[in-house]
Amino acid sequence: MFTKRLDRIQPSATLAMTAKAAELRSQGVDVLNFSVGEPDFNTPINIIDAAKKAMDKGYTKYTPGSGIIELREAVCKKIKRDNNLDYNIENVVVSCGGKHSLYNACQVLFEHGDEVIIFSPYWVSFPDFISVTGAKPIFVNTLSDRQYEPDFNDLESKITKKTKGIIINSPSNPTGGVWSDEAIKKTLEISLKNDLWIFSDECYEQLVYDMDFISIANFSKNKDKILTFQSCSKTYAMTGWRIGYTIGEPAVIKAIGKLQSQSTSCPNSIAQYAAVEALVGNQDIISDMVNTFKVRRDLIIDGLNSIDHIICDTPKGAFYVFPDISYYLNKSYKNKIIKSAYDLSMILLEEQYIVTVSGESFGAPNNIRFSYATSEENIRQLIDRLKSIFHLIK
Ligand code: PLP
Repeated sequence: MFTKRLDRIQPSATLAMTAKAAELRSQGVDVLNFSVGEPDFNTPINIIDAAKKAMDKGYTKYTPGSGIIELREAVCKKIKRDNNLDYNIENVVVSCGGKHSLYNACQVLFEHGDEVIIFSPYWVSFPDFISVTGAKPIFVNTLSDRQYEPDFNDLESKITKKTKGIIINSPSNPTGGVWSDEAIKKTLEISLKNDLWIFSDECYEQLVYDMDFISIANFSKNKDKILTFQSCSKTYAMTGWRIGYTIGEPAVIKAIGKLQSQSTSCPNSIAQYAAVEALVGNQDIISDMVNTFKVRRDLIIDGLNSIDHIICDTPKGAFYVFPDISYYLNKSYKNKIIKSAYDLSMILLEEQYIVTVSGESFGAPNNIRFSYATSEENIRQLIDRLKSIFHLIK
């Protein structure tokens, strides 16, 4: 009944777990939700006020398909201020969140017969963005003890005449890994040599803890084939507002604008005015979040590593940790064999109401993702509850 296109994609595993947590909570269960992909902060009041003002002024109509000029100008100011990049409004298209931006860019650049490189572990949506276009995702290994930087031998061996693009996501979801400058430069060098479209998904760019973040386009004089994707979602606790943007060559930017003019018409008008305030107004929320997340990251890393046989390196960004639980695979809990990370994640849910996302959907069957966008108290409880389960696994 449905098209083949639909068969090429899967429902989002992370959103499915978030729905599961909400369902349990509505039944009164004391759920510890470590599956969330969004900051547990409120959208700052200045941003909310800007939205209210926009409504009062009647800015509640269609806007230009690629976003209001004020917001595209605000993006240019923001990327100069934070990322030291010089672009103008012809280089910017605003979409309904970073996910929409990435989806659209795949639609305008990739098609049947193309191959696109992504790095495992990957954000759940990357393979689907590629597959739905008819192109093929090609998975390249990374080094878990080096912030999940590429295995460059594997990368070079996977590039063929069909390779059209490469998607980089540093800081990464699900690993939290942040690549070193050297790893970025080397990836760029290989990509440019092979004339690939380089997608840099920088939606966690502000959430880095032990270093400064450098936007990838800074590393190359030739930016023609580099597309930078950023978003208001994580940086300003605005996940529900749905504003993201793409920065790149005007021809690609225009093509994305054309596509979205026939799908969403334009991003939400009120959210766009709020996003102007987010990008150029008071930026205090960022340092507040970074300081808070850093404390939580250290707490959860210490806690996880204090459990026998769990290995978890310290990620330098985002708000995820991605421990290796492979020691516990094929062992048993209450006479039930744990065959996969998914089985283990289900035991955590059913026995202790801990909601996580198992690694399979990120291409990492030996891992489980925990999001620490939750309180220190919840993290302490998590570690206690995990200990009560793990010591029974034999
Ligand atoms: N890229 C990555 C790696 C993400 O984790 C997400 C959201 O979870 C996005 C992009 C898209 O976020 P949004 O569509 O809310 O901007």
